[in-house]
Amino acid sequence: MEIEVKSQIGDELVLVVRDVEVPFINAIRRTAMMDVPKIAIDDVNIIRNDSAMFNEVLAHRLGLTPLVSDLEAIDGMEVADECDCGDGCSKCGVSFSLNAVGPKTVYSKDLISSDSKIKPVYDTIPLVKLKEGEELKIEAVAKLGFGKDHAKWIPTTVCAYKQYPEITFNEDVEIDYDCADACPRGILKADKRSKKIKVLDIENCSMCKSCYRASENKYINIGYQDNNFIFKIETDGSMPPKEVLLKACEELELKADKFIRFSEGGSK
Ligand code: SF4
Repeated sequence: MEIEVKSQIGDELVLVVRDVEVPFINAIRRTAMMDVPKIAIDDVNIIRNDSAMFNEVLAHRLGLTPLVSDLEAIDGMEVADECDCGDGCSKCGVSFSLNAVGPKTVYSKDLISSDSKIKPVYDTIPLVKLKEGEELKIEAVAKLGFGKDHAKWIPTTVCAYKQYPEITFNEDVEIDYDCADACPRGILKADKRSKKIKVLDIENCSMCKSCYRASENKYINIGYQDNNFIFKIETDGSMPPKEVLLKACEELELKADKFIRFSEGGSK
């Protein structure tokens, strides 16, 4: 297997992964989305809510507000179900409070955390609008959880792969420049001087086949490489994409180890 970093901009990472099977790359994708622990607000106690927004909608918004969950921030934290305390403690939960009086727009920055490391990733996520004299008083607890239990614990906003595109030209028929004009992504450039169609950025090809359909004599063919992939991962800012991948690989390794132990001796 070969891995090449194509780009890393902010919370987005694009890799080219070569010489692997679909089940392998799909296992990484699913584990990154479902089995990487992340912090999100889980318990919400709404003491006062004079706004027009229903309590349930407000609680849902709080749950989906990304909180800093990188490895340093969650170091030493436990998943609530696995914590010895049984009733919530600083190891398995982080308290938040929110007090606001209108008129104002309440933003994510108004959530005050009991742990300076664990706070909203972005300050400017609007939560609710309060009119003159309206009050909002909330207490909440954020917990570690997994995407397989609720979308608020999914650290990725994009986690997808596609097989590496392959564009070939049929040299037995006349060159058909129409196929280049049909590409919505500007990947194909007709060069009438050199009597060629140039492929500018093959990794940006979506394999939509518009070019193939536009070519009456089927001058162009669109395919893909079976075992080479372009893998894109983007997070909601709660964790860097590299950390999500690292954690996903650790989780996958643990599962594989469990399976090996079971296969060897029947133990779990
Ligand atoms: S398959 Fe679609 S994106 Fe790719 S080159 Fe053809 S028209 Fe462009």
